[in-house]
Amino acid sequence: MAGSGVFAEIRDGDGVFRYYSDGEWKASASGKSVPIINPTTRSTHFKVQACTQEEVNKIIESAKAAQKLWAKTPLWKRAELLHRAAAILKEHKAPIAECLVKEIAKPAKDAVTEVVRSGDLISYCAEEGVRILGEGKFLVSDSFPGNERTKYCLTSKIPLGVVLAIPPFNYPVNLAVSKIAPALIAGNSIVLKPPTQGAVAALHMVHCFHLAGFPRGLISCVTGKGSEIGDFLTMHPGISCISFTGGDTGVAISKKAGMIPLQMELGGKDACIILEDADVDLAAANVVKGGFSYSGQRCTAVKVVLVMESVADKLVEKVNAKVQKLTVGAPEDDCDITPVVTESSANFIEGLVMDAKQKGATFCQEYRREGNLIWPLLLDHVQPDMRIAWEEPFGPVLPVIRINSVEEGIHHCNASNFGLQGCVFTRDINKAILISDAMETGTVQINSAPARGPDHFPFQGLKDSGIGSQGITNSISMMTKIKTTVINLPAPSYTMG
Ligand code: NAP
Repeated sequence: MAGSGVFAEIRDGDGVFRYYSDGEWKASASGKSVPIINPTTRSTHFKVQACTQEEVNKIIESAKAAQKLWAKTPLWKRAELLHRAAAILKEHKAPIAECLVKEIAKPAKDAVTEVVRSGDLISYCAEEGVRILGEGKFLVSDSFPGNERTKYCLTSKIPLGVVLAIPPFNYPVNLAVSKIAPALIAGNSIVLKPPTQGAVAALHMVHCFHLAGFPRGLISCVTGKGSEIGDFLTMHPGISCISFTGGDTGVAISKKAGMIPLQMELGGKDACIILEDADVDLAAANVVKGGFSYSGQRCTAVKVVLVMESVADKLVEKVNAKVQKLTVGAPEDDCDITPVVTESSANFIEGLVMDAKQKGATFCQEYRREGNLIWPLLLDHVQPDMRIAWEEPFGPVLPVIRINSVEEGIHHCNASNFGLQGCVFTRDINKAILISDAMETGTVQINSAPARGPDHFPFQGLKDSGIGSQGITNSISMMTKIKTTVINLPAPSYTMG
């Protein structure tokens, strides 16, 4: 059970979850807590500490000191500790998954998958780090015009310092470790600010790193509302790098942050382009999986279907048949569609639906909502003047726009402010490549729905969808700097010369 057994020390006597600083679980001096509302019951399920600015200062001071020692820790030892944390995380998947069910209404099986996937990510990161950080470059000067071979240049990757990690609610464990593990293997320390919904799952995950025996202060976790402590954290002079995943907040952070490397993984409006020659069964299955998994609350969910008019009726019919079979209800029952994360999210989704209704979209199902639970809805004949054609609902509502040419589909995709992923369904690989090249998105999937994984694939958004690239190798590289040492010889020296 959450907060019991090996996790007992992360909760205080009043049941409020503690924050993690300098290797210890602590109650905030603020005396205040932040409630975490269960999206299903809509009542307070957990509480976390509302940390103060002084506590943040203390955490960042400890992180700076711990990082200096950690950078001197051999790479193989860093990897060994990461492997240990991964094993402990997987061993305790059940209570962590339980938190995900209660905090973010993630279907029970998916919650377990998230924790296991996170353990695998940590281990892969340890292995990849040992490989890529164990290698540098050797350059000689005479390849540049005008130079003799008098200079030998040695390059290596060095840590940045203190990395601030801010993940979103939808994968609070996986998107936290996708920042923590690369930062640590590269020799950085880490300050985690988990999303409020998902904070308790994240605190349990952090405790697995504590149990693995990482040095004091190297990892810390500060809780509280992003709107209250977020700016103080992101603008703090002690932070050397920010890795953020979330919505528009990331755009604001990018404008406020100092001269430090930023990794921003933001929103998306992933388009699914379906051509006349597509395997319509395959496309329909992917539209439903891509559009409705975790109730559409995924950055890479299919968020608009652009289907050629000639196959649109067939596609809509097949999608509707599958939507009918989706189970709707509690995450504990492992339903396909569960309540969306907050009441304000549900209200936002409803606003998009009502706008589409008013402007004449065809409702393939009746719109139904109870509390935060919204029944899956396919909206056909969506037009470009409807908000849902452009905005990210982050809910189980999917617009279909009928197109008359491939160019029309590409134009709609590229007119979006977002550019995360996209997908195209066709049996013609040549067409698929041409469309992929024309789509202004970080990734295009051919004959499959967009997806962030496997976690070692590069993952990046163009335009408002982000800065930099994720994926294990890219994240490790992003959390390092290149350092060079140049050996100057008294005379040109040529091997075997
Ligand atoms: P969000 O509202 O932007 O919040 C993300 C994180 O930022 C949370 O931890 C939040 O903390 C924190 N935060 C809020 N205000 C802050 C501030 N002023 N300074 C610093 N941090 C602050 O996003 P969300 O609702 O959790 O997640 C949904 C969004 O994430 C969607 O747009 C989705 O597309 C995107 N997403 C993108 C990816 C990707 O890889 N591209 C992956 C998953 C999700 P609190 O919870 O305490 O407010």
